[in-house]
Amino acid sequence: RAKNRGKACFEIFNERMYTQALDRLQLENDLRQAIANQQLQVFYQPIVNIQTGKLSGFEALGRWPHPQRGFIPPTEFIPIAEETGLIIPLGEWILQSACQQMATWLQTYPSAVKYTISVNMSIKQLKDPNLLTKVDRALEQSGLNRHQLSLELTESILMENVIELKVILNQLKERGIQLSIDDFGTGYSSLSYLHLFPFNTIKIDQSFITRIGAQGENQEIIETIINLASQLNMDAISEGVESKQQLNYLKKLLCQKAQGNYFSQPLSSDAAEVFILNNPQLIQVH
Ligand code: C2E
Ligand code: MG
Ligand code: MG
Ligand code: MG
Repeated sequence: RAKNRGKACFEIFNERMYTQALDRLQLENDLRQAIANQQLQVFYQPIVNIQTGKLSGFEALGRWPHPQRGFIPPTEFIPIAEETGLIIPLGEWILQSACQQMATWLQTYPSAVKYTISVNMSIKQLKDPNLLTKVDRALEQSGLNRHQLSLELTESILMENVIELKVILNQLKERGIQLSIDDFGTGYSSLSYLHLFPFNTIKIDQSFITRIGAQGENQEIIETIINLASQLNMDAISEGVESKQQLNYLKKLLCQKAQGNYFSQPLSSDAAEVFILNNPQLIQVH
């Protein structure tokens, strides 16, 4: 009897694993198709200068409306794209779309010349030997000013080959492109490394912002990161700002910029345009 039960369990386990593997394979295929057919979208989340109340730019965020499964979040499809190498064509498409969108806004709204468009880069894209060619192409085809493009790298990327990374980041910097370090505070990068890289901006991870108002020690971390950024001549952007209380606190600490649902969720390009149109009346920071 025990033997039979064991066998049954084994089979059920096997079947579930099989279903999961099949499911994953299906999703990979769907993603490959979606990229080929340009079914993914780019959404834009406003980034606000909280000291002046003015719009400072947008972060481009990938969106995948799946025809059967509904909306699949980037936290689910980006890892699949990274594991399969699909991040290379997907990342290039997002970069091109975002540059093109900002360049289009620039033609209608001269004030948009002050905005930056931030694009997330995964480590595979940074290691792509054709990265510079692709970045140059996206800028040339769109006609966007180089200094209006900002590339975001997560802090964990700094753990990779430091020398190699420095070379590529300096080449991007020399082209006039801005560089941001994303999700700062969640990785394990040594603070003493930071000045070795040509970053313009530190983005404070939203997990620190969420806990504002809870207990004291977390606030010291935020204050330390803002002061660090200032000493290294970088801007600080707080991510995931959701309340007036968080905003007031960050303003007092002289954090320059913020993004989060308090100002706006990531928006379709049409909805994002309303932000440019109404700026600066729309944004309440006082
Ligand atoms: P991220 O680059 O740190 O982007 C910020 C994330 O925080 C976005 O999640 C955004 O929607 C979310 N967010 C913004 N404000 C708030 C808020 O007030 N509250 C909360 N709870 N969340 C907020 P999203 O769009 O789901 O993207 C998740 C991550 O996926 C991104 O984190 C980024 O690491 C990655 N990702 C998204 N698009 C791309 C892309 O085109 N390329 C690459 N390589 N990664 C991407
Ligand atoms: Mg980002
Ligand atoms: Mg982030
Ligand atoms: Mg994040």
